[in-house]
Amino acid sequence: MTKKGDMLYAWTSDAEIQKKAELGGAVTAIWKYALESKAVDAVFAVTKGVDLYDAVPVLIRDPKDLAKTAGSLHCGTLLMAKLVKKFLDGANNMKIGVTVKGCDAMAFLELAKRKQINLDNIVMIGVNCGGSVSPVVARKMIKEKYDVDPEKVHKEEIDKGQFIIEYEGGHKGISVDELEEAGFGRRSNCRRCKMKIPRQADLACGNWGVIGPKAGKATFVEVCSEKGAKLVDGAIKSGVLATEAANPKGLEIRGKVEGAMFKLGDKWRKHDFEALGEGKERLKKIMSETARCIKCYQCIDVCPICYCVDCTTRNPAYVPPGELPVNFMFHLIRYAHIADSCVNCGQCEEVCAAEIPNALFMHAQQQELEKMFGHVPGTTMELPLMAYVEEKEERLRLHNTGSDMIYENVFKPVPKK
Ligand code: FAD
Ligand code: SF4
Ligand code: SF4
Ligand code: SF4
Repeated sequence: MTKKGDMLYAWTSDAEIQKKAELGGAVTAIWKYALESKAVDAVFAVTKGVDLYDAVPVLIRDPKDLAKTAGSLHCGTLLMAKLVKKFLDGANNMKIGVTVKGCDAMAFLELAKRKQINLDNIVMIGVNCGGSVSPVVARKMIKEKYDVDPEKVHKEEIDKGQFIIEYEGGHKGISVDELEEAGFGRRSNCRRCKMKIPRQADLACGNWGVIGPKAGKATFVEVCSEKGAKLVDGAIKSGVLATEAANPKGLEIRGKVEGAMFKLGDKWRKHDFEALGEGKERLKKIMSETARCIKCYQCIDVCPICYCVDCTTRNPAYVPPGELPVNFMFHLIRYAHIADSCVNCGQCEEVCAAEIPNALFMHAQQQELEKMFGHVPGTTMELPLMAYVEEKEERLRLHNTGSDMIYENVFKPVPKK
C-alpha cells in the first residue's frame, strides 16, 4: 500500500505512452488510470501545437487521447490555474486532473483561497521544474548561440545543466549557465524561482534522484497526499504503472540538487533585486520603465492573483481613461493589490506588449513584504497576514457581489434634495 511520504521510482507499461513520455511516462499513465476509473472527469495538460515552441493547453476526456500530452515542453510557459478559473468554471462542475509546475501549484492555492477555484475537485500531479524558456527567446537563442535554424529543431531537453537540441543533421548542448550569461536561457522569474519540487500537489514527479538502471527510464515520485497515494495504488492495480522504492542514494542526490537550485535562485534574486536599487532609486526605475505601458490589460488578464470583476484600474476616479503615458496609479493599484500574494509566475512579463519587467517589479515588492510579515504565497491556504482586520467581511462582500469597489460608499453620488 502506497502512503503519503513514500518516495518511488515509477514507469508505465503502456507502449504508446512510453514512446512519447519524458521519463518513463508515470505521469501520463496515472492520468490514464484516473480517467478510466473516473477519479477525474477530465485531464488538463499540455500538448505540442504547431511546433515545440508552441505549448498548448488541452482538456482530455478520452483516455485514448492522453498519449499526446506526454513529454516535457520546456518552452511551455503557460499557467494552468488561471485557465481553469477562466475557462473551466474554476472546477466547480467537474473533477479535473491537472499537471502542474511549481508556479501552477502556487497559483492554484492562491486562487482557491480566494474561492475562485474549487480545490476539492482538483487533483494535481506536480512536475519538478528547473525552469522554462520563453518561446521567443528560445528561437533567437537557437539561431544565435547554436547556429541552427529554429524551424529545423524537432526535440529539446534540459539534462545535466545543458539545454540540448536535436535537429535535422545533429544535436548540440550548451550549458544553461553559459546561455544565461549571454542573456538567453530560462525566463528571469524562473531563475529567481525556488518552488522546485511542488509538494502542494498530490504527487511530485521528476528526474532528479533517479540513478542506476532506471536512470532516464523512470520518474522519481514523491507521494504528497493520501489522494496521490490512492491514485498510485489504483494505477499499479490496473497494470498501467510499475514502481519500486527509490534508491536511498538517489534520494540524497535529489535533496542536494534541490538545495543547489535554492542557492541558485537566491543568487539570481540578489542579482536582480540589487540591480533595481533601493527606495527612491527603485521607484524612479519602476516609474521610468512602466512609462512605456499602453494599458492593454494583458498583465491583469493573465495574473492568477487578479480576479476582481470590477477592476479598480478601470475606475476613472483613479486612472483617467484615454491617456498615454498611463497614469502611474495604474501600476500602483496592481502593486497594492497583488504584491503580498505574487507567486512570481512570470505571466505578466511574458505577455507584456511593451516588454516591461512586470514580474521582477512585483516579485521584488513581494519579497520585501515577505521579510516584513513572513507570509509566503502559494504554499498554504493562509490568507496574507497584513490583510485588513475586516478582510473576512470584505471578501464575503466581494464573493457575493463580484465588486471590489470598497470605496463605493465614500464616492457614492450625493442624493438630490
Ligand atoms: P510524462 O508522462 O511525459 O508527462 C509529462 C506531463 O507534463 C504531461 O502531463 C504534460 O502535459 C506535462 N507538461 C509538459 N510540458 C509542460 C509545461 N511546460 N507545463 C506544464 N505541464 C507540462 N524534473 C526534474 O527532476 N528536474 C527539472 O529540472 C525539471 N524541469 C522541468 C521543466 C519543465 C518545464 C517541465 C515541464 C518538466 C520538468 N521536469 C523536471 C519534470 C520532468 O521533465 C518530467 O516531466 C517528469 O519526470 C515526469 O516524467 P514522465 O515521463 O512521468 O511524464
Ligand atoms: Fe518552473 Fe518556477 Fe519557472 Fe514556474 S516559475 S516555470 S515553477 S522555474
Ligand atoms: Fe501595460 Fe504591459 Fe500590462 Fe499591457 S501588459 S497593461 S503594456 S504593463
Ligand atoms: Fe504572476 Fe505577475 Fe501576477 Fe506575480 S504579478 S502572480 S508574476 S502574473
